[in-house]
Amino acid sequence: MALASKMEIEVEAVEAMAAGAVAHKLKPQALLVSREAKPQDTVVHAGPVSVGGGGFTVIAGPCSVENPEQMLCTARWAQRYGAAILRGGAYKPRTSPYSFQGLGREGLELLAQARRLTGLPIVTEVMDSSDIDLVAEYADVIQVGARNVQNFSLLRKLGEIRKPIFMKRGLMTTIKEFLSAAEYILAGGNDQVILCERGIRTFETATRNTLDLSAVCVLKEKTHLPVVVDPSHAVGNRRYVKPLARASLAVGADGIMVEMHCDPEKALCDGDQSLTPAEFKAMMEELNAMTALRRGWLAC
Ligand code: PEP
Ligand code: MN
Repeated sequence: MALASKMEIEVEAVEAMAAGAVAHKLKPQALLVSREAKPQDTVVHAGPVSVGGGGFTVIAGPCSVENPEQMLCTARWAQRYGAAILRGGAYKPRTSPYSFQGLGREGLELLAQARRLTGLPIVTEVMDSSDIDLVAEYADVIQVGARNVQNFSLLRKLGEIRKPIFMKRGLMTTIKEFLSAAEYILAGGNDQVILCERGIRTFETATRNTLDLSAVCVLKEKTHLPVVVDPSHAVGNRRYVKPLARASLAVGADGIMVEMHCDPEKALCDGDQSLTPAEFKAMMEELNAMTALRRGWLAC
């Protein structure tokens, strides 16, 4: 009896030590983003649209919301040719403080108008923690831009809200760091996260960035979160967007995000990489033709 009590006390002591160690490290065994923690694909619900779980979602729209004509015209074409989600930046992370910085709240209003017109859910970027509540009032999905992917205080706050997050990989972020950044959001209790490969900075200067398509394979293996590719910011040139959109579908991405503009020559931001409506239509036709084939590849 005395022996049994002693053993019980020892077991309790070991358990208490283990609990203390876990609490001290604040780290679960397997990352919440990992397939070990959750083997099956996460499906993210963007309004009525599902992202992940086998489909291919096309997100399209201008780099930034500029004015009512530009936003509504672009939104109409995006919807007509088959985009599932509409994009547009109201808060723009620009390299130069003298470049167009976005319309802010007025831009959010125009996005809401475009959603009413087309029925498409909207994704738009938040740059500052103090704007989260406002952006969340309008957006169906909140974007974290490449430059903010390791803004940990922003990520923690986004973990606390109940809106899907569209998270861009940083220019110099490794896959491990990218997953770790997404972990901040899941650890806060928000498991609706879409990852986006948008090109990384390499020695190559022929394109704006270098599209790391192998990251899609690695991410799809390591995490259950949907993985989307943004070929527009990766290459910076509209001529290369369509072939890389095809490649994204072929490699197994859950979708793409592309920039399109009614009149790219007049765009206030990223006109060179924005597709015209006609180019967007041609891209969509090719992607639709490939979708049936892809079902066979993904099943293997
Ligand atoms: C964007 O999508 O509007 C954008 C600024 O992209 P990134 O953060 O990838 O540069
Ligand atoms: Mn852009």
